[in-house]
Amino acid sequence: MDLKKLSIFLKENKIPAFRLKQVRDAVYKNFAVSWEEIPVLPAALRERLRHGIHINSLETLETRISKKKDAVKFCFALKDGLKIESVLLKLLSEKWSLCISTQVGCPVRCPFCATGKKGLKRNLSPDEITDQYLTAANYLKKLGEQKIGSVIFMGMGEPFLNYDSVAEAVRTIADPDLIGLGQRHISVSTSGHVPGIRRFAKDFPQCNLAISLHAAEEPLRTDLVPLNRTYPLSQLAKALKDYIFSTKRRVFVEYVLMEGINNSRTQVARLNAWLRTVAAPKYFVVNIIPYNRTGGPYRAPTRERIKLFAGLLEAAGIEVTIRKSMGEDISGACGQLAGK
Ligand code: SAH
Ligand code: SF4
Repeated sequence: MDLKKLSIFLKENKIPAFRLKQVRDAVYKNFAVSWEEIPVLPAALRERLRHGIHINSLETLETRISKKKDAVKFCFALKDGLKIESVLLKLLSEKWSLCISTQVGCPVRCPFCATGKKGLKRNLSPDEITDQYLTAANYLKKLGEQKIGSVIFMGMGEPFLNYDSVAEAVRTIADPDLIGLGQRHISVSTSGHVPGIRRFAKDFPQCNLAISLHAAEEPLRTDLVPLNRTYPLSQLAKALKDYIFSTKRRVFVEYVLMEGINNSRTQVARLNAWLRTVAAPKYFVVNIIPYNRTGGPYRAPTRERIKLFAGLLEAAGIEVTIRKSMGEDISGACGQLAGK
């Protein structure tokens, strides 16, 4: 919700200021998504607010639950009718992670990603980003489920091409007076926007940074992540080096594995060598994401070939995780969010 708007509305309507705190706590601490869910407000006031202020900028069109019940995809309509998606994932035993969107579509247009297919429609506002959290939290609360333990900015869009809104949303999510999830439980994934990485290092040194690398050689990376034309690997390496130097934090490297494209032995060696130009291996965790189908010419390697790639990298002294695909049956896996 827009707290500034609410504050102005209350003043203009001569409603006492303590109502602001009541609403703020109800929305950010108790995850109310409708005025009816705030019983401390007198009914007449709720009615006035209902006509004057949107408590939540999203309308939930659909909630899809995966067969294994470890992923829930939300499809939201924005006030202008455009659609976005968020996904709740049960990663570690009982904890939920929420993967949220930052743009409608994405201008980077990586050829293997469903979000990039139609290019960018528009940026999300800070509220449209935060409200994904509040709505998902409301959903879990009503089910009596565990709370959201971490937030990953890894849904639709390139977060650093909408930096100001993303930064405001991160502040709201981390602010103890508002949502209050610690910065350490917030991760942002970028396709390699160098100025964004530099700002992020200064603004949020406690948050986690993930880089979608997918290739460690220039022409291939430009094919897979067209933003590489603007910020080539050499610039990215320098930005990451500075990031690690100033934050002392590890960087998560995402690598979508595609058979015959980026999974050869030579490519393992290149990845290993490139990472070493940035920092010592202990500063990296490489997340291998087996390609999820998005209708293109790509395919995921076999289980054995994925393990082979991971093993070679581990043998070089690098920590590797293989992301298990979750929510593929509800089109909620990495790269499948299209806002259809
Ligand atoms: N735009 C940002 C964050 C959103 S994309 C970024 O690119 O980092 C989130 C992750 O999903 C990225 O690592 C992206 O490369 C990955 N991804 C995209 N399409 C995919 C697909 N078809 N299969 C598996 N992962 C995919
Ligand atoms: Fe955009 Fe990320 Fe998809 Fe590339 S992978 S098109 S940067 S959302």
